[in-house]
Amino acid sequence: MSAIPLTDTSKLCVHTITTKPWSVEEAIDKYAEAGVGGITVWRQWLEGRKISEVGDQLRACDLEIVSLCRGGFFPAATSQGLEDAIEDNRLAIREAAELGAPMIVLVCGAVPGQALDESRKQIADGIAAALPLAEDYNIRLAIEPLHPMYADDRSAINTMASANEVCDRLDHPLVGIAADVYHIWWDPDLAEQIRITGEKNRLFAYHVCDWMTPTTDLLNDRGLMGEGCIPLEEIRAMVEKAGFTGFNEVEVFSDRWWARDQDEFLTEIKKAYLNYT
Ligand code: ZN
Repeated sequence: MSAIPLTDTSKLCVHTITTKPWSVEEAIDKYAEAGVGGITVWRQWLEGRKISEVGDQLRACDLEIVSLCRGGFFPAATSQGLEDAIEDNRLAIREAAELGAPMIVLVCGAVPGQALDESRKQIADGIAAALPLAEDYNIRLAIEPLHPMYADDRSAINTMASANEVCDRLDHPLVGIAADVYHIWWDPDLAEQIRITGEKNRLFAYHVCDWMTPTTDLLNDRGLMGEGCIPLEEIRAMVEKAGFTGFNEVEVFSDRWWARDQDEFLTEIKKAYLNYT
């Protein structure tokens, strides 16, 4: 099984957090100029802006808006906390609609000390509560399983199988999965779970980066594709075999790369995309 060769950057999407030092306006100009095909906008990048105007700027330069990142963080220890989380997700849905983003990535959340099963139930209930508004705007909600090292406070959904369970429970065409190699590359069930996800028409997004050895920071030491040990081509082949034809989204949190000249970094992103993704 081999992946389709990447010969151009039309299916390359970059997350605004990847080039963290750039504002959203700068990122849009630079990505478009570099021939990047799509963008995933992080919500912090929209603070203090008229969101519809950012959407207009994106459409004017032909950058496809892949998703808004991120919603989620549903679990809470109090009923007020649960309600606040649902409200924040409703706000994210309205922001996505204003931006023109068809999808929101969900980092589902967890509460330290609370049983993971309880958090998973709260996650399913929270998504269910936000779904009517997502239906109004036709916004897809993509559950992103996170590596188990984040099970304490970032996500109780740690495998594709666990994400598929929540999707099964909700059984809704707007609820699917964002598969991020950083979080799932180690999973012995990966091929089978990606196959099932595709079969159920819920493989909504594909995120790429690499895993550094040694990893010096659990959040901000991701590698650029080719720098680490993730079998990227093999996983992309699985994703393509499952019927996925969307963007390959480069999502790299890296203090090391953020300290570099971002124009040079974008050049390296394109090289890594074409050669190692
Ligand atoms: Zn991701």
